[in-house]
Amino acid sequence: MDFSWTDEQLAFRKSVIRFAKQELTHDMIEHDRDEQFSWDAWKKCAQFGIQGLPVPVEYGGGGADILTTACGLEALGYGCRDNGLIFSINAHMWTTEIPFMMFGTEEQKKRYLPKLASGEFVGIHAITEPTSGSDAFSMKARAVRKGDRYVINGSKTFITNAPIADVMIIFANVDPTGNQAGITGFILEKGAPGFTISKKLHKMGLRTSPMAELALVDCEVPVENVLGKEGSGVSIFTTSMEWERIAILAGHLGAMQRLLEICVKYATERKQFGQAIGKFPAIGEKIAEMDIRLETARLVLYKAAWLKSQGKHALREAAISKAYVSEACIQTCLDAIQIHGGYGYMTEFEIERELRDAISGKIYSGTTEIQKSIIARLHGIE
Ligand SMILES: Cc1cc2nc3c(=O)[nH]c(=O)nc-3n(C[C@H](O)[C@H](O)[C@H](O)COP(=O)(O)OP(=O)(O)OC[C@H]3O[C@@H](n4cnc5c(N)ncnc54)[C@H](O)[C@@H]3O)c2cc1C
Repeated sequence: MDFSWTDEQLAFRKSVIRFAKQELTHDMIEHDRDEQFSWDAWKKCAQFGIQGLPVPVEYGGGGADILTTACGLEALGYGCRDNGLIFSINAHMWTTEIPFMMFGTEEQKKRYLPKLASGEFVGIHAITEPTSGSDAFSMKARAVRKGDRYVINGSKTFITNAPIADVMIIFANVDPTGNQAGITGFILEKGAPGFTISKKLHKMGLRTSPMAELALVDCEVPVENVLGKEGSGVSIFTTSMEWERIAILAGHLGAMQRLLEICVKYATERKQFGQAIGKFPAIGEKIAEMDIRLETARLVLYKAAWLKSQGKHALREAAISKAYVSEACIQTCLDAIQIHGGYGYMTEFEIERELRDAISGKIYSGTTEIQKSIIARLHGIE
């Protein structure tokens, strides 16, 4: 068992941290308050090669495996405090680039992957509906074939990047009875007739990552805009979710490292009762627990990423990682606030935002309860 990074991966990690610290995360309090997505930061990340990391070189990407991509995202999470930006990049990568890479026709790959990799296009996927979240395949959106087109009707909610998206993968069912075998991914571009952003949504955290509801009213899509083939929607979704659940929280590892370092510094400098608060066993224990959690989170996430990079199935490991890392990050944010006392609760200290951002991790990409039910099912418990 070899737990070491290669020299190239270490150099890459360092360069991402340097880039992120220098170029990103300015004025975070204002950006968070005003729900401001930073186009400047998006473009800088794209120029650096972040958005294109998992995309093959032939389509303009970096050709990195999932392990190296996760390593880069951890570094980004460490160097950059804009968790919303990192979340938008993750949504773009795992739910748009990966489906195009794995299921797109050669023409679709050539048309979209270079623009997604360069950040010129922002991508989204839309499966969740007002009445179907965890039970995503019970969607009501329907697509009816009429000659050389499909006509889609339905609505989608909680869609990350929707207000700024150029290309969308929309899931709808071609089977009028709702049989899962009819679920299909359709490619839509901004401005498609019958497609509208029906409502912008406002969130507790990740406020710099835009989100909206979508409406599809007699939305016409040419047959060549089916992603892969008709009926492959379930496969597209489960494949992209496996990638996403492994890597979407890599940025959390970086944030947990950053918070640990901030807390160690504060516990050393802050004095009460004539001594540094870090000398109180209760505070030292919290610091130790933050580190234990970080180390464990790294192990489960990178084990899942390693399995995937070896071409093996990582369904169980992805679910374990998603459930564990998201909850670990929340606890670390709570500990960081507690260590900072009243200051930790103040916006100015920028820790309360970390907590608000982290809480979403146990909801998106399949809730913690759903991850646990996947793990239980793999043990034969239905
Ligand atoms: C920040 C954020 C970004 C998102 N981005 C996107 C996106 O880009 N595209 C997209 O399509 N969707 C997106 N979503 C939607 C997300 O995938 C859903 O919110 C999530 O799957 C849960 O669905 P729901 O909100 O309808 O909750 P529900 O499914 O209604 O669940 C409510 C509660 O019941 C529990 N529950 C449900 N079923 C079970 C079960 N079988 N066993 C045990 N407990 C259960 C859940 O765990 C939860 O606690 C996003 C959500 C968030 C918060």
